[in-house]
Amino acid sequence: MTATAPSGHRIYQGLVSLDWHKKREHWGGGRRRPCRFCHRLCFLLDDDRHPVHKICLERALTASLAQGERRAAA
Ligand SMILES: [Zn+2]
Repeated sequence: MTATAPSGHRIYQGLVSLDWHKKREHWGGGRRRPCRFCHRLCFLLDDDRHPVHKICLERALTASLAQGERRAAA
């Protein structure tokens, strides 16, 4: 597992699912900023306060976890 995996996530059917429902620090305060992954405007922030869509971050984390598993299996 990589150090980029944030706290408060779980794996559901092989996909990373972030539990941000009760985490106010992931709300960007209503300002829209470009997502670090797809560069479209978004409201949320990741653990490092970078603007992200939750789904974009979940996809990226799922991909990085899958890479880690492949590396571990090799
Ligand atoms: Zn995005």
